[in-house]
Amino acid sequence: MAAYISDLITRVRGGFNSLRFGHDLQTAYEAENLEKLKLTVSVSLLLALVFYAIFAVLDYSFMGEKYLQVWAIRFAVVIPVICISFVLVRIINNYQIIEVVITINAVVCSLGIIWMMVLGSAHPNGVYWVGLMLVIVFLFILSGANFFLCLKTTFSILTAYVVSCLLWIDISPETFMASLLFLISSFIVGLTGSFFIDTYKHRDFVRTRLLDQKTKELTALTRKYQELSTIDELTGIPNRRMFETLSINYWDVMQRKHDPLSLLFLDVDEFKKYNDSYGHQQGDACLRQVADCIRNTLMRPQDIVTRYGGEEFAVLLPDTCLHGATVVAERIRKNVEDLGIVHEYSRHGVVTVSIGICTATPHTGFTLPVCIKKADAALYSAKQFGRNTSKHST
Ligand code: GH3
Ligand code: MG
Ligand code: MG
Repeated sequence: MAAYISDLITRVRGGFNSLRFGHDLQTAYEAENLEKLKLTVSVSLLLALVFYAIFAVLDYSFMGEKYLQVWAIRFAVVIPVICISFVLVRIINNYQIIEVVITINAVVCSLGIIWMMVLGSAHPNGVYWVGLMLVIVFLFILSGANFFLCLKTTFSILTAYVVSCLLWIDISPETFMASLLFLISSFIVGLTGSFFIDTYKHRDFVRTRLLDQKTKELTALTRKYQELSTIDELTGIPNRRMFETLSINYWDVMQRKHDPLSLLFLDVDEFKKYNDSYGHQQGDACLRQVADCIRNTLMRPQDIVTRYGGEEFAVLLPDTCLHGATVVAERIRKNVEDLGIVHEYSRHGVVTVSIGICTATPHTGFTLPVCIKKADAALYSAKQFGRNTSKHST
């Protein structure tokens, strides 16, 4: 993944410098552009087929009695190749093979024209080479094949044309020079156009990828921050912010269902003394143990313990009546005591908690803040009662 991203960045920085990707990036590029390539190649092939057929009307006037032979080249050789290629392009799903197919077609179309010129005489040959210009423009601008492949193919076509003119084609030196000038010009124009098109395609791809990557990173970061902002770092349980959200949600749901919601407020007894005697770090470790103990004591998936602040915890027990809440509170109290965390400066000898309970069936007039206040008051009375005990609100 790191190599992939660094390749991406190099591409963006490199700008026009390179049209070649590393292996992974190239594979992704081809996968993303396969359908587009299939479309442009199919359109190119269809247009080539139409033009190749339409220009047959010229043969009759230019080629004289040879027109049947030229038609044979058009209709029995080149057009069948185009048709087969079209079918292949529709079936094949390999980017590189499709690129090769379109270049083979460019070569076949060009060789077809050159062959016609070999058959013709100086008079028609003054016109037919224009077809090669059309092939070059098609290949570079329309086909969608990559720059380097277009370059090599056109170079081969031009070489074949020059060699054929020198050896077999009946063409005047003036026409030959003029055709060469035009063909080389269209070669250069096509080459430049293809270079820009290919560069923009590559750059566009890279930028989109980089943006996708950044979006993914940002989403992951946002999720992480959301998690961090709702989870208490020390104990790993939901924090007070989460308590605020959850308590409101639970309250609303219970209100709709007319079911009771119980709230437990817990406070570690004599924790200041524990901290002062055993140190802050051990105090932290103790809080973690107490948090784990409360979490493990809760049985139902919807029961939630949150760190309310300092050494205070709040437990939400939806769908739980006062009796059930008292049972859970007592179980928590006992389990914390049974942890046996030594606390010489508490009169119980170990770390204990006091718990205030409030159970309410949410309805108008009995609001959540009132419920919280009552649980807090019950906790206060548990402290007054001697600590290590649970009390419910009146
Ligand atoms: P009580 O039985 O009445 O609750 O007495 P207490 O000493 O537990 O209550 P008090 O509110 O006086 O002290 C709470 C102490 O909890 C104060 C502070 O030292 C400690 N404390 C609060 N947050 C943390 C924390 O994150 N880590 C540690 N180690 N200690 C904390
Ligand atoms: Mg306290
Ligand atoms: Mg305390």
